[in-house]
Amino acid sequence: MYIAKKWLKSVGLYMTASFAAVMSLWVGAAEPLQELEQQLSQVPAAKALTLLDEFRLEPISASSYDKAKLHFLYGMQYQRSRELDKAIASYDKAIALTNALAVSDLLINSHLERSFVLYLKTNDPEVYCGDRDKALTLARLYNNKTLLAKSLTQKAFCYNKVTNVHQGIALLDEAMLLIDTEGNTDYNRKAMIYNATGSLYRTVGLHKRGYVNFNKAYQTWSEIDDTQDMFNMLHNMISEAVKLGDWDKARSNIARQFSLALSAPEFIDFRFFAHLNAGRVELATHNYSDAIEHLKQAILLKDTTQEQYFVTGSYLFLAQAYLRTGEVKKAADMARIFKQNNQFPKNMTSMALTANAIIALDEQQYLSAMHALLEVIDKERDKNKQIIDNEVIDSALEHNAKLAEFENQLLANQLAINELSLAAVEDKERIYDLRLSIFFLVAMVLVIAIMFLWHSRKAFKHSAQTDFLTGIANRGHAFKQGQRMLDRAIKKQRSLAVIIFDIDNFKSINDRYGHHVGDLAIKAVARRAERWLRDCDLIGRIGGEEFLIVLPDVTEVEAMDISERLREGIAAQPFQFDEQVIELTVSLGLAALNTPKTSLTELINRADRGLYKAKFSGKNRVYFVEQCA
Ligand code: GH3
Ligand code: MG
Ligand code: MG
Repeated sequence: MYIAKKWLKSVGLYMTASFAAVMSLWVGAAEPLQELEQQLSQVPAAKALTLLDEFRLEPISASSYDKAKLHFLYGMQYQRSRELDKAIASYDKAIALTNALAVSDLLINSHLERSFVLYLKTNDPEVYCGDRDKALTLARLYNNKTLLAKSLTQKAFCYNKVTNVHQGIALLDEAMLLIDTEGNTDYNRKAMIYNATGSLYRTVGLHKRGYVNFNKAYQTWSEIDDTQDMFNMLHNMISEAVKLGDWDKARSNIARQFSLALSAPEFIDFRFFAHLNAGRVELATHNYSDAIEHLKQAILLKDTTQEQYFVTGSYLFLAQAYLRTGEVKKAADMARIFKQNNQFPKNMTSMALTANAIIALDEQQYLSAMHALLEVIDKERDKNKQIIDNEVIDSALEHNAKLAEFENQLLANQLAINELSLAAVEDKERIYDLRLSIFFLVAMVLVIAIMFLWHSRKAFKHSAQTDFLTGIANRGHAFKQGQRMLDRAIKKQRSLAVIIFDIDNFKSINDRYGHHVGDLAIKAVARRAERWLRDCDLIGRIGGEEFLIVLPDVTEVEAMDISERLREGIAAQPFQFDEQVIELTVSLGLAALNTPKTSLTELINRADRGLYKAKFSGKNRVYFVEQCA
């Protein structure tokens, strides 16, 4: 009983969330209602009810659907605030309004929610299962897989007798087929199947399987940190462990319940259930005084829970614990409270018979007491007989095979998903590698292109600066470079000298030997002049057979010496071109830097004047021109 009830509580919460999603798809749903719904989920129940009271639908234009939805929202909030009768009344209205419309998710959910509240109130399948039946019929009409799977799973809990459990199993089998195994991230739905399966196994007495399935549900709900459902599953596992007499498992799960109660105090009834379970286990293991302590604690906490069934049950457990310690009077008092509160469904009479036996004992009606106890034994035997007669174990085992298949499918899909994501990762890596290679390729092409450009620029620059005939600096470059050398010398206060020289009587060479030989002569003079110069000196061709030399760090005295040797070097050794031996001389004009204000033009002019004087005074000589005053 408990399983279904506690479980449904989580279904309720789950439905609140999924309901919002489904509602948003409903054509014509009013947006303000959606906003309201959103707000409600974020505030405490009391505040939510105030928000609902303040909310106004347009009285005339509002559709029946919207009105129904508003009632539904009231129902959800009354449920939260534990006003169960008001919640039922709200769902009644929502159902009455939506019943007149086409089948909707709202109608189906209203039935399921009302069923849950009725369950909390009565624990009686005959009361709450009508709504689930209706919800299932509607869900089949509505043809929505999710809602159908939900309705099937919930309806399965209604078949909790040995005689009809196979019907519950059939519903669960159908629900499993509906679950989209491809999108198996729906932990909630998967956990619900495990939970319902565990519940059915428990009904047919297959407690080990019950335990295994509740444990799976527990693990699944842990994955999404669903504290309420984890707690519920621990409760079910404890019940199964008690049935199996596995006290280690029972106690370790009770310890987990206590620690959940500590870590999640917002779930106010966790402590009640943890004490109740501890009391049950101590009672079953004959630690009666511990059992009494825990059960007393549970009863002190009875107002923290809505679930009267368990509150009532705790009185009977306490009655039994007292009886075992010989305190018959106290035991009978507890049994009487149990009987007063007893709203047990008809199939749960074993507990009522036990209470009767204890009360009869207190009243010293031993025969009645014995009869009641023998009747309990008969009931248990009947139950076991039914299990055997109805071959429920067979169908349960068949279901187990289907469940295994379902799990395999889930695993296979998970594997496929893992493989896909692995492939995606590999693809990413491959793309990354590819990008890297492309990057390097582009970078290499760029480097090559840059190098090419640099080289051609350099070549271009060189050819733009070079005299085509001699390979030395041309006029433009010689002047530019000369200017730089002069600037540097001035800045560093160093000496610098300039020479201009011109081949003597060059015209006659051209005339006598031809232009070609003339060209060779110009080249040869340039080369021989170069030989007299240092690396840091500059030589350029600035006219037909006229050259400029700039000598940094050279004083006028040194420059005179260099000029003289250059003149001699050319004059002393005749040139030979094409079998022709030609004697050449040059005339040189010389100027040196002596004030920081001297410009290159001025120096060149002075050297030029020197050259002119050299020519004028007979050629083949050096002439130095000092700075003009
Ligand atoms: P001077 O001693 O007074 O310098 O006598 P010169 O004959 O050298 O006189 P001038 O400077 O007037 O003549 C230079 C001649 O050089 C004129 C021109 O025909 C010739 N010339 C100029 N450029 C070139 C050249 O690139 N190649 C050749 N072969 N001849 C050139
Ligand atoms: Mg000349
Ligand atoms: Mg000349």
